[in-house]
Amino acid sequence: MNIKLRCNICEQLRPWDKISVLSKDETVRGIRITQNIRYCNDNQKCGDEAEQFTFLNLRRGNDVC
Ligand SMILES: [Zn+2]
Repeated sequence: MNIKLRCNICEQLRPWDKISVLSKDETVRGIRITQNIRYCNDNQKCGDEAEQFTFLNLRRGNDVC
C-alpha cells in the first residue's frame, strides 16, 4: 500500500501509517462538532501541536455576535 496523508500540523505528505488522527469534540455557539486532526505519529512536535490545533481560526477575535 502506498497511501499518503497530509499532516495538518507540518503539512507534509506522509505514509498513512505515520499519520494518526486526534479527534477533539468542541462546542461552538452551542453546536457540538468533532475535529479530526491528522498528525505525524513519529514527530513529537506534531503530536504536541495537534493538541492545540483548531480548524476554527475564525473564532479568534470575532466571537461577540
Ligand atoms: Zn507533521
